[in-house]
Amino acid sequence: MLLQVPRGTKDILPQEITTWQEFEVKSRQVFCLYNYFEIRTPIFENIALFKRSLGDSTDIVQKQMFVIKQGKDKFVLRPEGTASIARAYLENNLGFGTKLRKLFYIGPMFRAERPQKGRLRQFHHIGAEAIGLSSHNLDIELIEISDYLLQTLGISKYKFIINSLGCHNDKLKFGILLKKTLLKHKKNLCGECKLRLSRNVFRVLDCKNEECRKITNALKFDHSYLCDDCKTHFDKVLEGVNKFNIDYEVREQLVRGLDYYSGVVFEIIHPELGAQDALGAGGRYDHLFKELSNKEIGAAGFAFGMERLMLVSPMKSSPKQLSGYIITLGREATDRGLDMLREIRRAGISCDFNYSDSSLKSKLKEANKLGARFVILIGEDEINKKRVTIRYMEESKQEEIEFEGVVNFLKEAIN
Ligand code: AMP
Repeated sequence: MLLQVPRGTKDILPQEITTWQEFEVKSRQVFCLYNYFEIRTPIFENIALFKRSLGDSTDIVQKQMFVIKQGKDKFVLRPEGTASIARAYLENNLGFGTKLRKLFYIGPMFRAERPQKGRLRQFHHIGAEAIGLSSHNLDIELIEISDYLLQTLGISKYKFIINSLGCHNDKLKFGILLKKTLLKHKKNLCGECKLRLSRNVFRVLDCKNEECRKITNALKFDHSYLCDDCKTHFDKVLEGVNKFNIDYEVREQLVRGLDYYSGVVFEIIHPELGAQDALGAGGRYDHLFKELSNKEIGAAGFAFGMERLMLVSPMKSSPKQLSGYIITLGREATDRGLDMLREIRRAGISCDFNYSDSSLKSKLKEANKLGARFVILIGEDEINKKRVTIRYMEESKQEEIEFEGVVNFLKEAIN
């Protein structure tokens, strides 16, 4: 039996790769405008990092980690980027000499989830982190970059959902309030949520069970748990966002699926995504550094799922075009053709060679399939005349030119 890719993973094929590359290039350009620098962390990390930062009772830590055992050590294929970046920030002293470190990353993440449309086991994040300050202006900047990034990728119709969980103390108050309210509905919650009530009540809000969702969607809290500072912070963020003409809604049930979030959190949803409607999400995580290093370091960030962005973006790039394709007939022509191939490539023009022994007809077919713009034909006749026949593939016409003129011809023709 033919072996297949593991469930929930995908090959990114040559015909799709230009779209991926374009998404990456455009995202890098946006981050560059906002002064964010790229960081690449390892694809696997020590298991303790995720247990400590994401929270022991989160779905990711409980059920979705791909664990690798190597001797006595246990590693995890990274399920998200923020924890790794916080680790790298601390380990490499990236805060040294600067109040604010702005970073971005693009790369694969791994979660052992049940695969479905828009939900994979290996997917890709484009994310950003602003580390060092707790200013509301950074929350605003992150929301604004997210918005600009989506526009740059040609995406519309999305909506921001925004909430504030408040500082660590507020979040504790919110948790008590939430538990008190949910206890009234305990008998209708699923078995797992009944346990979550005592283990980590916020995780009830992530539950996908329909009955639980009905209950949590109807909850109302009016942000009474927010202290004055957090209330002011939240108001200032909303005031900032109001200036951008962004479609948003404040939703008190939005808590995000990871324990490290506190303060302002947000999610970006898109109506065409169906059940998995989140394009991306982010928020403030001032408490994460305290957890990892006992240091008070303000930070906020976001991540988009690339596969989901692609599902709703109209931007599809066609494969790169091959400028030249050399077809030769006979030994001498082949030698001359191979020299020419090297010359053309070194002149910065894409070119390939037909290495097969097939007929001229099938060689031309191959050139067509590869999307070559010009075929350079060299046979016995051409060798005698020291000229090549150039065939314009789209226009179905041809002309003869001297050997020495081929590079210049292609240079002019492709510009
Ligand atoms: P999260 O870290 O869960 O907030 O994820 C941020 C974004 O990554 C989500 O809004 C999705 O767009 C994307 N994402 C998360 N999990 C998956 C997955 N299993 N498959 C595909 N995309 C995902």
